[in-house]
Amino acid sequence: METIFTKIIKGEIPCAKIYEDNQIFAFLDINPINPGHTLVIPKESYENIFEIPNEVLEKMIVIAKQIATKQKEVLNADGINIGMNNGKDAGQEVFHAHIHVIPRYKDDGYKLWHGKVYESEEQKIEIQEKLKF
Ligand code: 5GP
Repeated sequence: METIFTKIIKGEIPCAKIYEDNQIFAFLDINPINPGHTLVIPKESYENIFEIPNEVLEKMIVIAKQIATKQKEVLNADGINIGMNNGKDAGQEVFHAHIHVIPRYKDDGYKLWHGKVYESEEQKIEIQEKLKF
């Protein structure tokens, strides 16, 4: 599927490019959580993590780690969030798979996780049984 990211890769829409090789492209998010917030994408258009071949996904996460390392070194990030929204109900807005690499700072005001508690120990075990492999 053609998305805005396809146009960015082709150079039809400008972006602040951070990295490019024959399979992977990385650029600054236009609305950063913090300055330096970067998106790592495959050049091939895969909609979400389930569509990306593992060898491409492996390259993406290694590039994400390199960008995270640079964010710590040159932007003095105190921590890094690496995340991916897969599916509309998980917050995905652009349906070309991408990994967010977000520099974080002490007291920057973002709280990403709103944890809840399991309804019961039985519920937790039931979920564990369904998920484990
Ligand atoms: P999602 O919610 O799909 O995980 O994230 C999509 C991200 O793409 C958002 O953080 C949004 O700011 C970013 N984005 C959307 N359109 C553009 C664009 O045209 N250029 C850039 N650089 N980032 C974009």
